[in-house]
Amino acid sequence: MKKKEATTERYTLADLENWQEATGDLDPPIRLGVFGDPVAHSLSPQMQNAALKQCDIGIQYARFHIRAKELRSALRFLRELDFIGINLTVPHKIAGFEQIDEADDRATRAGAVNTIRLYDKKLVGSNTDGEGFVQAIRGEFSVDVRDLRVMLIGAGGGTGHAIAWQCALENCERLVLVNRTLEKAKALAERLRPFFAGPRVLGPVARLQAVLWDEATLRAQLAHVDLIVNATPLGMNPSDPTPIPARLLAPHHMVFDAVYGPSKTSLLRAADEAGARGANGLSMLLHQGALSFSIWFNQEAPIDAMRAALVL
Ligand code: NAP
Repeated sequence: MKKKEATTERYTLADLENWQEATGDLDPPIRLGVFGDPVAHSLSPQMQNAALKQCDIGIQYARFHIRAKELRSALRFLRELDFIGINLTVPHKIAGFEQIDEADDRATRAGAVNTIRLYDKKLVGSNTDGEGFVQAIRGEFSVDVRDLRVMLIGAGGGTGHAIAWQCALENCERLVLVNRTLEKAKALAERLRPFFAGPRVLGPVARLQAVLWDEATLRAQLAHVDLIVNATPLGMNPSDPTPIPARLLAPHHMVFDAVYGPSKTSLLRAADEAGARGANGLSMLLHQGALSFSIWFNQEAPIDAMRAALVL
C-alpha cells in the first residue's frame, strides 16, 4: 500500500542517487523541492505543498540537505529524475548559476539562481528573489522601493545580488552596498553604475556606493538611508549578532531582514530597541515562492493558500 503523507523529513544526496528506493512508495510523489545547507528551517515545503493541494496537483515538494560540495552531483541526479523543478537556497544560488544549462534574464543579471525548471533533462534557471523582495517591501511598509534610499548588507551573496539588481531596475533613490568582503560589493557596484547615472537625490551623498562595514562608515551612511536590508545569513541562529547594532538605527528607518528563522531576529530586536519599523523575510518567501510556482506550472499561484500555510 502506498504511503499518503505530507513530506516533513529531509532527503539527502544519497536519497537522490537511489530515488526509487528512497521514495518509490510515496503518493503523491515528490517532484519539487529545495536544496540548501542548512535547510531544516525552510518553510518552502509547507507553503508550496499548500499551493499544490489548492490547485489539485498531485505531487509533493520536499527539503533536501545538500552541502556545497554536493551540489554538482545533486543537480546531475536531478536531471535524470522526473522532477518539475527545484529551489536553491543558501549557500547554492551563485554556485548553481554556474551549473545549470540555461538561464533567463533574471538569473543572468543576478548571476544567481533560486528557481530551476527541468525541460527535457535540461536545467533552466531563473531568479524570483528580486521581485519577491519588491513585493514584500510594498506589503510590509506600504512604499515602493523606487522611492527609497536603500542600504543592502550582504551584497556579495546570491540573495544580495538579486536584491541589488532589482533595486537598480526599479531605479531606487540610492543604493549603499555593504559586504564583509568589500571587493565583491565594489564589483557589483561597478556593474550597477549605469542605472544610477541620473541625479535623483539632492545632497552630499552619491547615489550608488560600496562601503566598508565599520561603525563610523555605517553611521555616516545611515543618515541618508530609509530602508536597511539584511541579506546575510546572520540571524538564522538565535545567538547570531545583529548586523547593525540598535545604536546606529533611528525611528525613521525601515528594517527588512530576509532571514525568517526566529520571528524576531537579532536585527529586528535591534530595530525594536531603536523604535524603527521592522519586518522579517516571511513575506519575501511568500512572493518569491509564488513566482517560482508560476514558473513551474505556467499559472498564477494560489497566494492566499500559500499565505495561510505560513500563517502570515
Ligand atoms: P549566500 O549566497 O551564502 O550569501 C552570503 C552573504 O552573506 C555574503 O554576502 C557573505 O559575505 C555574507 N555573510 C555570510 N556569513 C556572514 C557572516 N558571518 N558575517 C557577515 N556576512 C556574512 O546566502 P544567500 O542564499 O544569499 O542567503 C542569505 C540569507 O537570505 C539566508 O539567511 C537566506 O535564508 C535568506 N533568504 C531569504 C529569502 C526569503 O524569501 N525570505 C530569500 C532568499 C534568501 P561574503 O561575500 O563576505 O562571504
